[in-house]
Amino acid sequence: MRAMYFEAFEATPDVRTLPDPTPTEGGVVIKVEATGLCRSDWHGWMGHDPDIRLPHVPGHELAGKVVAIGKGVRRFREGQRVTVPFVSGCGHCGECRSGNQQVCEEQFQPGFTHWGSFAEYVAIDYADQNLVHLPEAIDYATAASLGCRFATSFRAVVDQARVTGGEWVAVHGCGGVGLSAIMIAAALGANPVAIDISDEKLAFARKMGAVATINARNVADVAEAVRDITGGGAHASVDALGSPVTCFNSIKNLRRRGRHVQVGLMLADHAAPQIPMAQVIGHELEIYGSHGMQAWRYDAMLAMIESGKLAPQNLIGRHISLDEAVPALMAMDKATDLGISVITRF
Ligand SMILES: [Zn+2]
Ligand SMILES: [Zn+2]
Repeated sequence: MRAMYFEAFEATPDVRTLPDPTPTEGGVVIKVEATGLCRSDWHGWMGHDPDIRLPHVPGHELAGKVVAIGKGVRRFREGQRVTVPFVSGCGHCGECRSGNQQVCEEQFQPGFTHWGSFAEYVAIDYADQNLVHLPEAIDYATAASLGCRFATSFRAVVDQARVTGGEWVAVHGCGGVGLSAIMIAAALGANPVAIDISDEKLAFARKMGAVATINARNVADVAEAVRDITGGGAHASVDALGSPVTCFNSIKNLRRRGRHVQVGLMLADHAAPQIPMAQVIGHELEIYGSHGMQAWRYDAMLAMIESGKLAPQNLIGRHISLDEAVPALMAMDKATDLGISVITRF
């Protein structure tokens, strides 16, 4: 198979021919039809993720067709259209048994713990517990965009922040995660406020459902600006970027008893950010993380997509080739693209 491959962190990956994967007993091999490019891939390539063993094939947001199954697989057959959450649970640890596969103790993550989907084929373990059947109405590129950013945002807004209609939701950063969170919050009837440093991204955020926008470069204090717009602070706030500044502002801009959800990764130098803890205590703020979403929660998300309430296809920016993905990956930390880039040509 053709695959993107690197032997050292920060070294230019190359696209080369590697042996086709074979399924484990409980796993499948998927012919990748589409795979999204995400900032987590950039973190992995930079060496920020301790799960990655070199040499490595990145890629974790995927959709495709099952082409081979292990002896133990019961729920899936060759030829079926599937996608998979980027955190796949083992199915037998305490967290998996409680339905929290997204924090499994022995998780399988394509593109991190194992070789990923920037390739013609990818092997996925624990298939019965994690694969999701793809409705015919949802195309591969859209499905690939769900696996990480959209699903994580869905969990962040719906399950962690428990956003309800009429609430104010601040979203810091208007990349793939932020735009997803805005679309999902708007679909729930909430009022999303988008924050970014690019007017172009903010204009896109409005199209996705933001009712107000703040260019962080044009205001002295982002938290104050959010408080002004929302009449006292956001009920819920998402740091969709992952930086010490956006994390701080996302907590600071909450009203009393507000909920912050950290979705953007905080790795390397950013792993221990400053947070306004006096406000967390005095105002009884709630702080959550959101790390993927369980396969069994996809039903709710797919139902909202099929009914037209959510339109993740609108978040897709460019369709690119595997070769074009090499420079795109290396530039991911300064990405100026609107929306999500998806590899659809291998
Ligand atoms: Zn588990
Ligand atoms: Zn991702």
